[in-house]
Amino acid sequence: MRWDNLAENNANHPIGGTGALFAADAVTTRTFDTPEFRGITFHEIRARSIVNRVPGASRMPFEWTVNPYRGCTHACVYCFARKTHSYLDLDTGLGFDSQIVVKVNAPELVRREIASPRWNGAHVAMGTNVDCYQRAEGRYRLMPGILTALRDHANPFSILTKGTLILRDLELLRQAAEVTEVGVSVSVGFVDPELWRTVEPGTPSPERRLDVVRTLSEHGIGCGVLMAPVIPHLGDSPDQLRATVRAIAAAGATSVTPLVLHLRPGAREWFMEWLGRHHPHLVRRYERLYADGAYAPTWYQRRITRYVHELATEYGIGPSHRGTSRRLPGREPRPPRDGSGPGTEPTQLTLL
Ligand code: SF4
Repeated sequence: MRWDNLAENNANHPIGGTGALFAADAVTTRTFDTPEFRGITFHEIRARSIVNRVPGASRMPFEWTVNPYRGCTHACVYCFARKTHSYLDLDTGLGFDSQIVVKVNAPELVRREIASPRWNGAHVAMGTNVDCYQRAEGRYRLMPGILTALRDHANPFSILTKGTLILRDLELLRQAAEVTEVGVSVSVGFVDPELWRTVEPGTPSPERRLDVVRTLSEHGIGCGVLMAPVIPHLGDSPDQLRATVRAIAAAGATSVTPLVLHLRPGAREWFMEWLGRHHPHLVRRYERLYADGAYAPTWYQRRITRYVHELATEYGIGPSHRGTSRRLPGREPRPPRDGSGPGTEPTQLTLL
């Protein structure tokens, strides 16, 4: 395993570079013999930095991210973040699902970095690479410390998740929302139970995720739904789309933002292998649909987006533009307190 590959150069980090992200000899590997974590290996590291700038941020609805984990036990077959495991010489298939890197000092780093005079108070997005409320969070409890630091500094932030564990931190979210802008989005691409069991085997069911939306709303925290991914030929029939948008509306979502499946390298191989096992008759159709690369054709994406927005209007959810629930209007980032500009540290960006 090439831990030095995690040691990205962070010379342009917002509060100053310190070289590698963590010391290569500071990795502790653990397994837990409980049913929840059987077969999972955790690699605990003490990272040297945690707030990262998104490359090409001008095209994204957020610029800064915090990712306390790498790898994700939610094990979505299509997961766009699989490729990032290859940077560690870890397998992007089962290895991504079961070899989890845990930045155990993430809370103290967030607190230190956003307290720096060089930090500009910008919006911080979480859950943009892997899910920060995956099962590991139940044991490591990194998010309460991160949220507490963001709350204490009134630093705006957003979270995108499929994890019901976020409700554990409801009170912290509520407190943070009193002092800064907080955006929460839950990812629900479909409500078909059969599709869920096979393609998102480690996640809470769509119904439980929508219960999260409902509970957050009941506690005054508006929650959007990223309807992702819409899976061609498996989750895109008019009836399926209607059932999904209807359930999202019934849960009280503030917005619904459809996103069609994309298949980047790393995810593509794993997904196509799965497709060949579960739906072999669709393999040729997928090869044609994704012949030009990672994205489905524009006409297909537009058709899905238009139909979902029509349904959203019909069911009383205002159609939103991608990312609006995660970049909240209002506050502009403060200029850096020492006058220097923020740096750039490459971070793999994905959406749940
Ligand atoms: S898509 Fe999201 S929830 Fe699913 S495995 Fe990837 S990071 Fe985890």
